[in-house]
Amino acid sequence: MTKKDLLKLAIDTWGVQSQIMMAVEEMGELLQALSKQSRYGDVNTLNLLSEIADVKVMIDQLTLIFEPMAKISVADLEREKLARLAGFLGVQKEWMDYDF
Ligand SMILES: [Mg+2]
Repeated sequence: MTKKDLLKLAIDTWGVQSQIMMAVEEMGELLQALSKQSRYGDVNTLNLLSEIADVKVMIDQLTLIFEPMAKISVADLEREKLARLAGFLGVQKEWMDYDF
């Protein structure tokens, strides 16, 4: 079973709306962990990394849910945004040389 198969099974098992709400909840948990780190300098690194992993799993599910509705992929949009970031940082040529 691939990662994509597993994530699709989760969506099929619990439903699209449930997984969207789960994504919102996981993002909330990451926001809280980041806020605590920022406000109190309280770095629970394992918890922070765990929340990042939770959000990544949910982002992958959101991608599977919403991407079929569009004519462009998240990966394509990410490439565009990274190229723009490289432009802001003045390293677009280096980035393009690396990426392609
Ligand atoms: Mg979490």
